[in-house]
Amino acid sequence: MNRDASRALYDRALSVLPGGVNSSVRAAPQPYPTFVERGEGGHVVDADGNRYVDWVQGLGPLLLGHDTPEPVAAAVQSHAAEGPMYGMPSEIEVEHAEFVCRHVPSVEMIRFVNSGTEATVSACRLARAVTGREKIVVMRGGYHGAQETTLVEGDPDHPRPSSPGIPQSFSEHTLPIPFNDEAAARDVFETHGDDIAAVLVEPVQANMGIVYPEDGYHETLRELTDDHGALLVFDEVITGFRVGGLGCAQGKFGIDPDLTTFGKIIGGGFPVGAIGGKTEYVEQFTPAGDVFQAGTFSGHPVTMAAGLETLKFCAENDVYEHVDDLGRQLRAGLTDIVADHAPEYTVVGTDSVFKVVFTRAEGGPQGGACAEGCRQDHDCDRYGNCPKAGTDVSDAETERYARLFRPKMLEQGVLVSQNQFEANFVSYGHTESDVEETLEAYKEAL
Ligand SMILES: *Cc1c(COP(=O)(O)O)cnc(C)c1O
Repeated sequence: MNRDASRALYDRALSVLPGGVNSSVRAAPQPYPTFVERGEGGHVVDADGNRYVDWVQGLGPLLLGHDTPEPVAAAVQSHAAEGPMYGMPSEIEVEHAEFVCRHVPSVEMIRFVNSGTEATVSACRLARAVTGREKIVVMRGGYHGAQETTLVEGDPDHPRPSSPGIPQSFSEHTLPIPFNDEAAARDVFETHGDDIAAVLVEPVQANMGIVYPEDGYHETLRELTDDHGALLVFDEVITGFRVGGLGCAQGKFGIDPDLTTFGKIIGGGFPVGAIGGKTEYVEQFTPAGDVFQAGTFSGHPVTMAAGLETLKFCAENDVYEHVDDLGRQLRAGLTDIVADHAPEYTVVGTDSVFKVVFTRAEGGPQGGACAEGCRQDHDCDRYGNCPKAGTDVSDAETERYARLFRPKMLEQGVLVSQNQFEANFVSYGHTESDVEETLEAYKEAL
């Protein structure tokens, strides 16, 4: 496979872009990233003309794949042609907000912003303002964007910034606990209950492997936040409009969060974020309330058109049936392959996300209830070894993934997530033959 053009572009990029990229995970592939020229359905074509099955799908936003269906393409083009943006409100923002409020159970009102990061920044500010408290509980190893409140590691007694440039004093307002650990959640509320503004959690951890919640875990978080006057904030930047369809993961799990952050799919492939939730909270944002929130590009008409038409297309077509069915085929196929080739590894995922975590688990291969993606089944004989929290994924064979497995997949024309932590995403552009080709490649690469 000739990859000279990607190599040459990376060489140029290293002189003018830090690390050669504009977002760090893109440089994770060894020895250099694949530079994309264009997308086609479930595929991308690189700068050298190589064609790959693409499971990165923009890291989540491209639920429909690389080919935008006619109504989406038409809406994007007409809004771009009408002058890209105004700094004044336009009808498409109202329509998109109405659609989201109609479909997502807990969302009565929404503020659109420009990235998932901006959404979680504003959600934390809002939660702190409405509770008059400062501390935010997050899940250790989780990801909520490149922002000061959540780039924190350690434990509630010793939180510390996970990046230089963040003052230690900022990190002291964040309390990282392990996901899926009910006792840790109860402990943190026992010790800090009166100071906790919110728990910020992804309903399914999708940024460090894919970690499914234990039965009852979110109910516990809901109960603890209610009892202590804190807000429950679901970060649905990845799961929103992917897990649980148009009702999102909160609909699937039957949980009623106070606030929800969105991003990725809600902008149909354009830069986006949003904070939705109960009117009594969201209306505290300026100018309705006094919690400052603003953005030049917020509610950008082209983004709003792309996002709304994407979701309308999903409502009117078999998008979720298609992507969830291919997701099931992938997880089931991978479970069989892993049983033969690497029984210690764990197949994870749900709906249209999938992944093999290179766990060092003991015991036989995955079976029973977890055969199509780990569900934290207490009856599974390897229950103790499957990933329960994001940090279990960082303890997996991340070097083997990066240096041996991923390059081997690439050689076979299949692009999987750029490192061991990101999820693989199924899109409406993928086909059963993409699934078959991918499973064959896993057989070779594992
Ligand atoms: C991607 C992501 C973010 C950050 O969104 P950006 O648009 O990259 O700023 C926040 N939370 C979760 C769960 C994400 O997956």
